[in-house]
Parts: sequence; structure tokens; C-alpha cells
Amino acid sequence: MSETVLDEALVAALEAFSSKPRVLVASDFDGCVSPIVSRPADARPNPRSMAALETAAVSPQTYAALVSGRARVDLQSLSGASGNITLVGSHGAEFADGFESAISVEQEALLARIVSEFTSISARFPGTSVERKPASVTLHTRMASRDDAVAALHLAENGPATWDGVHVMNGKMVIELAVVETSKGHALDRLRGTLGVDAVIYLGDDVTDEKAFAHLRQGDVGVKVGDGPTAAEFRVPDPDGVAAVLESVTALRQ
Ligand SMILES: [Mg+2]
Repeated sequence: MSETVLDEALVAALEAFSSKPRVLVASDFDGCVSPIVSRPADARPNPRSMAALETAAVSPQTYAALVSGRARVDLQSLSGASGNITLVGSHGAEFADGFESAISVEQEALLARIVSEFTSISARFPGTSVERKPASVTLHTRMASRDDAVAALHLAENGPATWDGVHVMNGKMVIELAVVETSKGHALDRLRGTLGVDAVIYLGDDVTDEKAFAHLRQGDVGVKVGDGPTAAEFRVPDPDGVAAVLESVTALRQ
């Protein structure tokens, strides 16, 4: 069991949130439900958080969602989520019914150019790697030396990141370039509308989660995981804190 003690203001906000008739419990995956790991493929969810989300998803008038930067298919396999949990991949752009907008031939060609450029950058800096997703390409540098990571990211930022039609997402030790507009904020808006919920709680740890926090409204609860500037009203230190929040909400909803 976690020793995480949630602060009083957060506990009060969770109680107020849980008293709403119809709610959505949503979280980022990496760094929140799953601890950050050096190799993205090694990510494993905290069983407590997944259990809490699964229970929330079958509680009355309660919905659960994971909103991740990962390709939706990877989010599915890594999380092991049941069909009761809504999965949104590619930073909010990829739902069960596909992408918000279909990817054009031109966007496919642009994606191929970015892959090619990232592959040649990665070849020069040991420990960096390229991950292709359906509508974006990520350059990972977490396994590289500090100097190599900085140099590789610099080349990406001053190269393909500046091309027309490219949407840039900077994360912790990664740069991701998408050929479609992505936003976890828009994803939350869509879920809110589709599910017809009265309030949303969202937990996130990275730069891209700030777009989700920015779309929260009165009565919603935003929880930033870890350090760093944020628009979220509340904060927990780590994935154990996430588990504590999810278990608390789930207990209140049952
Ligand atoms: Mg994250």
C-alpha cells in the first residue's frame, strides 16, 4: 500500500467532484498510471491505478479514460485496459473510431520525410531512437548522454520541427512531430460532450497535459503529477499519488 497522504484541499475537491451526478475520471498513462522508464516499451502500469480505473468504469454514472501520447494500439497493449475504459491515443487525436481527421497523402509523405530526417539524426547520437506512430514521429533521447541528447534535440528543433504542416510537441527528453493537430484538451472536450458528464478529473505529468488542464472548467479537478509549472490546481508527487487519487475517487463513487 502507498504511504501517500493527499493534501486536505485535494481531498475536499475529490469529495465535491465525486458528489456530481455524472463524472469522467481521466488520466495520462506514462508518468502517471505507469512510472517513467528508460525504454518506452518497458512501461508497466501500476496495478492499483488500473484496478481503480476499471472499478470506476463500471461504477454508476462514472466513466474512465486514458489519454496518452502513445499510439492507441500501444496504449491498449501496455495498459491491458478492458473495453470499459475509453482509450485515446496520439495526444488526443486517436479515438476508437480512428483519427479526428483522416491523414492525407501529403501528410503521409511529410511523415516519411520526418522519419528519414530523425533516422539520420539518431544515427549520429548513440542511445537516441526513433518511434513512428500513425500520425507522428518521436525522437527519444532518454538513453543518450546529456550532450548527445541536447545536440540531437537541437537538430530536430532547427530542422523538421520548422517545416510547414508540422506540429511540435516537446516532452521530457523527447521531441515529437505530428502531421495532424493534436490536443489532449480537445480530446477531453469531445469526451465531455459524448459522455454528457457534469465534471472531469484529469491527471497528467508532462507538457502536453497542460492543454488538458487548460480545458478544465469550474467543478473539474486538475492534478499535476511531479514538479514543474502547471495550470492544474492540485499536485501529487508521483504515480503512487496518482493511485491514491484514483482509489479515493473510486471509493467515493461506489
Ligand atoms: Mg505522461
